[in-house]
Order: sequence, then C-alpha cells, then structure tokens
Amino acid sequence: MYSVEDHGKNGYKCYDTTMNEESNVRLTTERELRKTLTTDDIKVCYQPQVDTITEKLVGFEALIRWEHPEKGLIYPGDFIPIAEETGLILELGRYVLDQACADVRRWRDGGMKHLRVSINFSGMQLDQDCFIDEIRDALQKHKLPGSSLEVEITENVIMNGMPSVVRKLRELTKMGIKIAIDDFGTGYSSLSYLQQFPISTLKIDKSFISSIDVNESATSIVDAIVAMAKGLKLNLIAEGVETDLQLKYLKQLGCESIQGYLFGKAEGAERTREILDRIENGDAIRDLAIA
Ligand code: C2E
Ligand code: MG
Ligand code: MG
Repeated sequence: MYSVEDHGKNGYKCYDTTMNEESNVRLTTERELRKTLTTDDIKVCYQPQVDTITEKLVGFEALIRWEHPEKGLIYPGDFIPIAEETGLILELGRYVLDQACADVRRWRDGGMKHLRVSINFSGMQLDQDCFIDEIRDALQKHKLPGSSLEVEITENVIMNGMPSVVRKLRELTKMGIKIAIDDFGTGYSSLSYLQQFPISTLKIDKSFISSIDVNESATSIVDAIVAMAKGLKLNLIAEGVETDLQLKYLKQLGCESIQGYLFGKAEGAERTREILDRIENGDAIRDLAIA
C-alpha cells in the first residue's frame, strides 16, 4: 500500500520481496521515532535568510534533524513522511514550535530584537481544530509577537484544504503572523485561487534556483515567478542559493531575500547563537558559512 501511495493515492502494485524490507524500515523508523520524541535526539536547527541587497540577516528557517545514537544524523526527508503517515507529526510539530519560539525569545533578549523564525507546518497540523490555538499559546508562553513568526506551508496543502484553510490563515494574519508558500513552482497551484489566500511570501523552490544559467526553461520559470510575485505584491525568497552567479541573477531580477548554502546551512541553536554574536560584532554572514 505504501509503495503505491508513494506515487499517488489511486493505484495498484504486485507484491515483491523488496517491499518487505521497505516495510520493515518504515516500521523500525516509526517505532524509534515514537521513542525519540521524548528525548533530546530531535534537534531544531536554523538556516539564515538574508536580504539580497544588503546581505544582512532577515530571519531563520527552523529545520528539524534527528541525531540517531547509532545511525548518525537523519534528515527530515527520511522521517517526516513517516511522521505524517503515523500522525506523529502532530507531536513533532508541537515540539518544533515550542523549541523555535524558546530559541527566538532567547536571541531577541540577547539583542536581536526583530528576529523572525519561519516554521514548516504539514497539512495534518493545519487540519487540526487546535492549530490556531497552539500557535497562539506558544507565542504567549514565550512572550513573542505574531510578527516574530512565519508559517510555511506547501502550495498543495493550500489547494487541498479550502475553505477552512482560508479561515485559519486569515486568523494567523490577524495575529501579525506571515504566511509563506514553500517549494513554490513544484505543486499545482491555481493562481486565481492563490490570490484568495492571505499569503505574504513565495519561496521559489531550490530546483529552479540550481538550474539558473544551466537550464534555460528553469531560468524562465524563475523570471516568471519573480514577475508574478511583484505583480501580486508578494515578498519573494529564493531557496537553495549556492553560488554568486545565482545571487547576482536573483538580485538583478529584484528577488528580495535568499536562503542557501552560500550564506550557511542549518545549524543547531548553540552554533546559531555564536553566529548571531559574530554578526553583532560586525562579521558578514557569508564569511561565517561553513560549506
Ligand atoms: P524546505 O522547507 O523546503 O526546506 C529547505 C530545504 O532545503 C532544507 O532541507 C535545507 O537544508 C535545504 N537547503 C537549503 N539551502 C540549500 C542549498 O543551498 N542547497 C541544497 N542542496 N539544499 C539546501 P532539509 O532540512 O533536509 O528539509 C527538507 C524538508 O523537510 C523541508 O523542506 C521541509 O519540507 C521538511 N521539514 C524540515 N523541518 C520540518 C519541520 O519541522 N516540520 C515539517 N512539517 N517539515 C519539516
Ligand atoms: Mg520550508
Ligand atoms: Mg522549500
């Protein structure tokens, strides 16, 4: 069933023995993840988001990592889908929200008064009746204004969930929270629908950015997304910027912000604190990036 579902909900597939192995891996991951949720092995890391022109920090995206005691570092691509299938994403999501708010509170108290964090939310979290309350409670608990948070959701989540999604996103906006559409360009948004949502930011997917100047049609998609975002008066952030050439291209197009290895990978809270200290002492972010 999982093997079929990986390629869409409707379908069938004949059984073969490799599926047993896949299914065992899923079961082991699920069991281990369930145990891990209550330990420190789940880490929230932070990747800088930078103003394209000034190259100054504008915020961070919170990205989860699993530090497995035997298997080493596990990236979200290898466990978020299982967390979503099993519902564990709800507990995981609450943990990320609380942790990220606690860290931002500390960093704001340490001097970065306007620091903002972007957090990824899965469709299942958005579907929960308590979605808004949980966000409101987390902000209150850590004494943070709505403007310190950006909620990232993918375009498919938006398209699948109306009209309750529209209502929830409007409520978040009223609280001063910004809404970003993640991996923009990879889903199947209807642009006219998109206009109905209180979205403030489009995040151009990294697959298009990595193709800048390599693949003409992908470059044209970047041009089109930037033009569209400007027309709709949305902020733009390019994901996966790795080279000066990509930066130059995006700057000349007028894309406001960027995120990518050129300015640093996601780092744990402690290293992020060090980075913030060095920025406050006048260091340039790109000099702090460890490739
Ligand atoms: P995303 O939200 O689109 O995050 C951006 C991904 O691109 C991150 O991968 C980041 O490490 C990677 N990235 C950033 N800059 C570069 C670059 O210059 N080059 C390359 N090659 N990659 C870059 P990561 O951390 O593995 O996360 C993958 C996905 O897992 C995220 O994609 C997001 O959809 C999901 N995810 C991560 N943390 C959470 C979470 O707390 N909750 C939920 N629901 N999903 C999460
Ligand atoms: Mg994201
Ligand atoms: Mg993305």
